[in-house]
Amino acid sequence: ARADIATPNRTKDIIRKHGFTFKKSLGQNFLVDKNILDKIVAAAELNPAKGALEIGPGIGALTERLADEAGRVAAVEIDTRLIPILRDVMEGRDNVAIVHGDVLKTDLPALWEEQFAACEQVSVVANLPYYVTTPIIMKLLEEGLPLESIVVMVQKEVAERMAAAPGGKDYGTLSIAVQYYCEPRLVCIVPSGSFIPAPNVDSAVIKLKRRPEPAVIVRDEAAFFKVVHAAFAQRRKTLQNNLSLLAGKDRKQELGALLEGCGIKPERRGETLTLQEYAVLTDALLEAGV
Ligand code: SAM
Repeated sequence: ARADIATPNRTKDIIRKHGFTFKKSLGQNFLVDKNILDKIVAAAELNPAKGALEIGPGIGALTERLADEAGRVAAVEIDTRLIPILRDVMEGRDNVAIVHGDVLKTDLPALWEEQFAACEQVSVVANLPYYVTTPIIMKLLEEGLPLESIVVMVQKEVAERMAAAPGGKDYGTLSIAVQYYCEPRLVCIVPSGSFIPAPNVDSAVIKLKRRPEPAVIVRDEAAFFKVVHAAFAQRRKTLQNNLSLLAGKDRKQELGALLEGCGIKPERRGETLTLQEYAVLTDALLEAGV
């Protein structure tokens, strides 16, 4: 049997063999901790009937583990230099597709058809490049892909924001977007020493389990997210002040009454509202023609 890729020695060997140098700008921090990989793979609950989409396979530390557990793996990697390395380390595995490209520009529905047509369910499992975490998560959530779950390594602060409850400094537009579509669960905190090279921040693995229906029912999704963004435009401002940028300053009084009518005190801040309150508020604003 081959040795696991996710050890400091094997990772250094592969890098040396191929003369690879890390690009910080691509968020290249490779996992060299088998215990963390065990936790990621366990959280993804894979089996041979399931597919796994990996974003940023690097030199394949996670990819080989996914290939062992899932029926089919597609791994999208942006760095041209890593493609031959991945083909080398994945040699002999017939259930792995290495896809060269930028995940943000990848036609994911087409990739689904090509790679996962025979899979009962598909999860995204990845150690994400931190410079593009939010756009990647938003793309996965908003494209309406038939996803069972997203299990990802992200910066610890970002994981805390995704899982945050109303009322604290971590709760914001990312929390609401994630929780609208998914149920978040923090899997584990990961120290920087689990990577080569070690990043400057702590990391965390988070599981986002896709809900069968959004957490709240809204008449107009776009309007809902517009209201949420407006409510957080300036964190220190009251809801009434932030929303009057949306409604027009001349409608500030009316807005106060509308908020009261929804059972929401106008002097509250955006960070204190639940998703349910945002849903009620959005419908009332639409009703009032804001
Ligand atoms: N999965 C590997 C591991 O755990 O050791 C590598 C993880 S590393 C944090 C992130 C990977 O994402 C790098 O291989 C990097 O080249 C790749 N990457 C960066 N931006 C990307 C993008 N826009 N699309 C696809 N891959 C990207």
